Amino acid sequence: MRDRDLYASILGISSPWGVVDVELDLAGDEVRVKVEFGPGAPTPCPECGKGCARYDHRERRWRHLDTCQLKTILVAAVPRIECPEHGVRQVTVPWAEPHGNFTAMFEALVIDWLKVASFKAVAAKLRMTWDEVDGIQGRAVKRGLARRGTVAATRIGVDETSFQKRHEYVTVVVDLEEPRVLHVADDRREESLGAYFQSLSPEVRERIRVVSMDMHKPFIAAVRRWVPEAEWKIAFDKFHVAMHLGKAVDDVRRRENREYAEEGPSPLKGTKYLWLWNPANMSRERTRAFAPLRDSALRTARAWALKEAAMDLWHYASLGWAHRQWKAWIGWALRSRLEPVKRVGRMVREHLWGILNAVIQGATNAATESINSRIQWVKRVACGYRNRERFRNAIYFHLGGLDLYPATLRRATHTGS
Ligand SMILES: [Zn+2]
Repeated sequence: MRDRDLYASILGISSPWGVVDVELDLAGDEVRVKVEFGPGAPTPCPECGKGCARYDHRERRWRHLDTCQLKTILVAAVPRIECPEHGVRQVTVPWAEPHGNFTAMFEALVIDWLKVASFKAVAAKLRMTWDEVDGIQGRAVKRGLARRGTVAATRIGVDETSFQKRHEYVTVVVDLEEPRVLHVADDRREESLGAYFQSLSPEVRERIRVVSMDMHKPFIAAVRRWVPEAEWKIAFDKFHVAMHLGKAVDDVRRRENREYAEEGPSPLKGTKYLWLWNPANMSRERTRAFAPLRDSALRTARAWALKEAAMDLWHYASLGWAHRQWKAWIGWALRSRLEPVKRVGRMVREHLWGILNAVIQGATNAATESINSRIQWVKRVACGYRNRERFRNAIYFHLGGLDLYPATLRRATHTGS
């Protein structure tokens, strides 16, 4: 087999394209494969498929999968045609998407690596620049989102997540039925979430049953503005209430610990996490260490008991019953004489309607929280995003549940050679 035939066959080049030359550049660590379009072959318009006259040609290059560890570049003079309707256009090539300097198979390889390795590692291993990797990821996300179209989700979760170290945020909308990221927007303002609702038709907005979220005013405002009957759909979920209460317990503990420490040894010394862990997940030793603290007369123990009591109020099926129990809890919290707990008590009183929605609808933002923790992983493997656009792309790439591969690749694998 001659080198030209060998390359035509391993690269999957077939009529009307053919390999005309293979050039080895050992110094450049590169092999260039020159490909030509058959001189007499028909040249259809890429838009309408009508046979058109050739106009001229343009030389283009694509990086393909390495052969024997050499960078492999396809070089082709791609004919341009002139269509009476669509003007001067380049004919489509079977190995690559219309734009970009990589073959579909190479893009697919990068996509596969990006799923499991950091940006930096992919760039180094495949001898690419950061921008080239970014370009492939960006295009993959773009085609994935276009293919997915609008998702008519009925239960969604909204959360904010920090971007880099500064106090900058992105708003993330998650499909709770089939956990995946539906939308990523800059900041955490009303417009951040509003943009998501605006992208939906009124019919799709109407189908939303539950919006699970934190008690974040701008998000509440956005849902009220865009989702009909929002008062029954906004659900303040258990996780966020637990977070506020966990913080209150910690505030009480810190203050109490300080007071003890002024007088001598504090019984609260080194106990921070015992108060924060879910008792159900504690090891036997920890439970044993925790029992005397929990049963003590410490203010922290009282705050902790209030938090645990609130965690038991999420399973009611009847609105009336749930309402009574929560009212009782609020009364207890407000009489507790523990300022951080009272603050959460007032917050719960003000947002009770949405907490009751969450209880009755069985709404939980657990899927959103799990996606949020995976976003933290995405942030780490990216080793610092220079801009939000990249961060947003990476979130969609890893967590959007998207079909990311080039369409050209599918066509190529379906038709064979
Ligand atoms: Zn045309």
